[in-house]
Amino acid sequence: MASDLKGCGKVSQNQSARPKDEVLKEIQQVLSQNRVLQIEFFDFRVRQYLHALFGTGGRPRLRAALAMVHARTLHRTKQDVKNWPAYLVTLLKNFDPDKATEEWLWKQPRAETALGEVNSALSSASTTPPTCDKTDHEGDETESSKGEADDSFDETQRYLREQGKLLQKEIGIQHLATKLQEKQDHADHLEKKLEEMQATIDNLLGQLVEKKADAQTTGTRAGEERWQFQGDDGEWRSFPDDANSELMRQFREGQWHCTIKIRGKVYSVNLKEGWQMNQQTSRMRWIRCFFEVPKHWKLTDEEALSFFNPVGAGVLPATAQAVADSQVVWRLERLLNQARARHDGSSCMCSHGSSRFLVVEAFQVKNLHLWRRYQRFVQSMREKHLLHGLSPEPCPALGQALAEFAWDLDVDEASDERLLLHGTRDLETAGKIAVEGFDNRVWERSGLYGRGSYFACQSCKSAQYASSFGTHHKASFDAMGTILLARVAIGHPFFAEGPCKERTRPPEKYGVRADSIVAMPGIPNGLPGPSGVQGHMEVVTFDPAQAYPEFIVRFIEQ
Ligand SMILES: [Zn+2]
Repeated sequence: MASDLKGCGKVSQNQSARPKDEVLKEIQQVLSQNRVLQIEFFDFRVRQYLHALFGTGGRPRLRAALAMVHARTLHRTKQDVKNWPAYLVTLLKNFDPDKATEEWLWKQPRAETALGEVNSALSSASTTPPTCDKTDHEGDETESSKGEADDSFDETQRYLREQGKLLQKEIGIQHLATKLQEKQDHADHLEKKLEEMQATIDNLLGQLVEKKADAQTTGTRAGEERWQFQGDDGEWRSFPDDANSELMRQFREGQWHCTIKIRGKVYSVNLKEGWQMNQQTSRMRWIRCFFEVPKHWKLTDEEALSFFNPVGAGVLPATAQAVADSQVVWRLERLLNQARARHDGSSCMCSHGSSRFLVVEAFQVKNLHLWRRYQRFVQSMREKHLLHGLSPEPCPALGQALAEFAWDLDVDEASDERLLLHGTRDLETAGKIAVEGFDNRVWERSGLYGRGSYFACQSCKSAQYASSFGTHHKASFDAMGTILLARVAIGHPFFAEGPCKERTRPPEKYGVRADSIVAMPGIPNGLPGPSGVQGHMEVVTFDPAQAYPEFIVRFIEQ
């Protein structure tokens, strides 16, 4: 009973003290006149019911109810009733048959409603049939009340136990819900972290792609086209590989204005005017197509673009462009005249050794495909040398004039590249070389040092092959001579000791295949008599990718 009172105090602690005190005061009043009734008979259920009566009918109703209780219990003994609180509730319930009290209880705030339900359940469980109340037979009524009170007590206990279990379950559920919320918060936190990490990874990957792209475009002279955009800091950054391929495809198809998706964002792009616009933010950036070409080509934008849509005109292809700079023409002429001397500076005694060359016209070859093919060959050749531990081998100087010119063309004379001369029969053949390069497979006859492409460092030697009128023909306006200026990857040369016409590739040297054959002046050339000695230095290559034609020079001799 004590715990009930405690519980009652807890549940109702928010109620206003006044009605509660009023009820208690009236109970004390009855107790002072009734010796059977004890304060503990008025447990929380009874008091709650009295409280409800006070709520619906005020003090008069409360007093009337207590007066009834006083009258019905006045002549009983304490032992007559087993469960006094249940008995009192039954009495009060019968005093209030119109259920107004219960309705009042239902209207109470939530905390009291639960209690009201308990009371209601208890009340209905212990409701005495109306007939019992009407009889005046005291003994019957007592027995009846006793039995009902017992049932009511058991039922109340069961009910309370169930309520207790439900409450425990509810507390358990609330506890789990709290735990779940904590877990959910933690999961949200982890998800956020994951997103941040993903963003960091994306960022790093992007940087990696750009670095890789930069390496591709600037790390080697054989780089391919790379579309780039200008960052906030003014630096050019490469598009990702897939976007680059897509832009290049649109560009080749002449789709200047297109739309492209990059890392989930959609951009409008104008390839000709060189800008992009983020469709969501309307932010614009400059874009460009970057590809590695030799500096000495000095291309305009239109020329650069023409690489992707080459259109030929006349005898020469678009890849061979007339040199407009008279300074360059003059330098080419000086080169031919200075390169006439032997590499030791002495005059050459050959048929063109005393010629004075006049350059009439010159063309610069700007063939991106050939250029890249040549650069890849050089790269591959150097990898081979590295693999076999070969370092550049000194090769005899090929004349000051060529060396000076080679410097301007960024020829790596210190290691494995040389700038050399190649005479060919006419402009048409030179044009073919400007398109396809030096293809030794088409030569009709094999030279003294194998079936390769022949290059010389002396203009008098190349002039022997610069027309279709024989080696002694002197070039004139009627039959101009044609010499190509070419960069040649001589690599590790094999120095011939005599004629080797049957060769289709260089022999091995130090256990590794040599890259070219060099015939130095003074070696026997197989001819009888005084002509049986090699007069000029010659370089023979056997791979079409091994040389790149830089200039086509048209000249006459005086
Ligand atoms: Zn000569």
